[in-house]
Amino acid sequence: MGYKDLANLIFPDAKEISYYEEKYPERNLQEGAMVTRFAPSPTGFVHIGGLFGATVDRKMARQTGGVFILRIEDTDQKREIENGVQQIIESLKDFDIIPDEGMTGENTDVGEYGPYKQSARKEIYQAYAKSLIEKGLAYPCFATTEELEEMRKKQESLKIRTGYYGKWAKYRNLPAEMAEEKIKNGERFIIRMKSQGDENRKIRHHDLIKGNIDFPENDQDIVIIKSDGLPTYHFAHVVDDHLMRVTHVIRGDEWVSSIPLHLELFKLLGFKAPKYAHTAAIMKEENGSKRKISKRKDPEAAVSYYHEEGIPSEAVVEYLLNIANSNFENWRRENQEKNIEEFKFELSKMSISGAVFDLVKLLDISKNVISKYTAERVYNDSLIWAKRYDSELKELLEADKLYAISIFNIERRNTKPRKDIAKWSDVKNSIIYMYDDKFDRMQEEYAFQKITNKQEIKTILSEYESNYYNQNDDKEVWFNKIKDLSEKLGYAREVKLFKQEPEKYKGHVGDISTVLRVALTKRSNTPDLYEIMQILGKERIKKRFNKFL
Ligand code: GLU
Repeated sequence: MGYKDLANLIFPDAKEISYYEEKYPERNLQEGAMVTRFAPSPTGFVHIGGLFGATVDRKMARQTGGVFILRIEDTDQKREIENGVQQIIESLKDFDIIPDEGMTGENTDVGEYGPYKQSARKEIYQAYAKSLIEKGLAYPCFATTEELEEMRKKQESLKIRTGYYGKWAKYRNLPAEMAEEKIKNGERFIIRMKSQGDENRKIRHHDLIKGNIDFPENDQDIVIIKSDGLPTYHFAHVVDDHLMRVTHVIRGDEWVSSIPLHLELFKLLGFKAPKYAHTAAIMKEENGSKRKISKRKDPEAAVSYYHEEGIPSEAVVEYLLNIANSNFENWRRENQEKNIEEFKFELSKMSISGAVFDLVKLLDISKNVISKYTAERVYNDSLIWAKRYDSELKELLEADKLYAISIFNIERRNTKPRKDIAKWSDVKNSIIYMYDDKFDRMQEEYAFQKITNKQEIKTILSEYESNYYNQNDDKEVWFNKIKDLSEKLGYAREVKLFKQEPEKYKGHVGDISTVLRVALTKRSNTPDLYEIMQILGKERIKKRFNKFL
């Protein structure tokens, strides 16, 4: 009995690998086109680091006229959850990431290089494992868990490298006949690669982000097919990325140390290895030190968080590009109006050590992004959010669309538009005082600032209402009248005048407008008061003054 018979005994039904090589030919793409893939497990959960990777994958593919694939890596079936694939697809869609090829639903896909879910590719992996067994480059291993455990303990006590390699690889040289006998006896086995590497030889890997890295060759006979017949990550990665004709593997740098192993697998299988770009994990700063952002500890690690908070996906993607590429920020400064798509992304400009995630900065970017939206867009997008997350806001918005839009339009058409909304969950608070019902029931205290004396406030309000207010005034006239009122009541009509001779005045025009602002909104900080008053109109202004009086 030889390797060929052994291979046949183990995988009697596997096809010739030439079948797959023909079925999945080289892609016909323009020079330099990148084929990338995002390859999560179907846990339903998309980590911000995953979104980061997927953003880069898609960007690189788009930019070069290539293909971006969504592949589901479900060979570790313990990690699977119901509808996990669907949830990943939805999460990516929330960020406008729609793969060109790959999974489109729990069990559906699009593209000529599928199936795109690893559990549906079992026979493919087995065909390639079979081809390795035939060549004596892989073999069945019958070691039990106890045996392996014992081996590890021994290695530890001898203070040598642990693992299944060299003389420790007990079944590496088992004659085919003996393997056959064991299999026929029903002994359980897995398939291991027969490493040809040597610990004492070095290989050099060129990483597109990290640059050159030297490693010792791999010499571990790692498992390629598990006892359930499914491949390990390592084997599936190599077979899939070869057959899907992936040109660039962009993945988390927890995989860097597996490079010697992966390169050896590519070599044993006779495949050309793809280029690799290993991205550093996104970090979080906490009490002055850095750590990886964590699914367990940080709500912002889950991409669903951004959706729930109502941070526009555009802002999140923009922020990720910001931390991904060191030259993005400059580009954005110089190209304020351009679409992100126009930014030329370079893997070599990605940070080698992990970028620190900064929520405050993200919200800043988001404010900017939203400030460029039209009032209609703010209305529509916040309504979509409210329908899912805030019924009170939904009711407010739906009650009177044009009225809501007029509120969103305050200071929006200026050259420096308002920047007070960072996320849709801010919207309710920023418009609530414009609704009489809500205004009446607002729990907030009137936030008067310098002038707090009730009598003085009453005087200001009644004077203003009876002698200075006219709804038809334009902004300049309106403001001049507030200045006149200030003067009349002993306040400086310009801040400048007050600063020159503070002892001469009770205060200045700013203090007077604050009184008007607070009486009308309860807040000392709002967008443009003139516009607010225009929208409220005479009757409601009167009512609000009276309410206070
Ligand atoms: N399924 C692997 C993971 O979740 C993918 C790594 C890769 O992109 O190759 O980390």
